[in-house]
Amino acid sequence: MTVPWLLSDAHGHMGTKAERNERREAGIPSILCAITPKEAKELIRESREENLGGEDGRQQERYLFPAAGIHPWYADRYELQDMETWMERCPLIGEIGMDSVWCSVDLKTQEIRFRQQLELALRQNKPVILHTKGQEKEIGDVIRQYPNRYLVHWYSCDSYLEKYLEMDCCFSIGPDVWWNPSVQNTARQVPADRLLIETDGLDAVKWAYEEGIKAFKKNIIKKPETWEGTEHVTFALAHTLEAVAEIRHMPPERLGEEIRDNLLRFCGKSI
Ligand SMILES: [Zn+2]
Repeated sequence: MTVPWLLSDAHGHMGTKAERNERREAGIPSILCAITPKEAKELIRESREENLGGEDGRQQERYLFPAAGIHPWYADRYELQDMETWMERCPLIGEIGMDSVWCSVDLKTQEIRFRQQLELALRQNKPVILHTKGQEKEIGDVIRQYPNRYLVHWYSCDSYLEKYLEMDCCFSIGPDVWWNPSVQNTARQVPADRLLIETDGLDAVKWAYEEGIKAFKKNIIKKPETWEGTEHVTFALAHTLEAVAEIRHMPPERLGEEIRDNLLRFCGKSI
């Protein structure tokens, strides 16, 4: 599938081999997050096989930017030391954070694991990808104590956006932007040089699509999308880019270039 715009994915996961092949073949710069030690080992091996990185994974070229971090859902399953060696080999840390909506791990445990990883990121001078679900206010307060470069992934909260904007955070817009008003609000308010887009992997794209259809059926949104893109990274990103371009009254080709440059800059590449 070819799309006439430059695409980039600021937040994905390992996904299937086919998904990773599509990213490589289409040359889509992608930040992929390994959220358990097992995944991190696999991701680092893959980035070496792709011959994209040196021993420490820092010399990434082309499409794959590996990140590692203990996801809040696994904050009680892994200690920092289980993940530390993998985090040291990645140029980026994440996704890390706290979650009170989709997980039942005790919040105190989540916060301890989160702070340990924020400290490690600062020590190693690496940017961080944040998961903030339901804990937007708390995370805004916590990261203020760890000044760093942050990418807030799929921000879908109607409040506290300004806290993150004040701290110069970047934002990646999720695949439900075509129907979710909270995500549309984020897409509208983020400054041009801090705006990115993401899939969160193809499972999340499929979920976002199905939720959109449900919203249509409940008359929450006006029209259903005739969208058959849930099994392709390219199509999902193009669709998200198009929706964001419409919100920002910009041609998608220009926005695609800016968003791609923002991703490369966040990853520490000179462009
Ligand atoms: Zn994710």
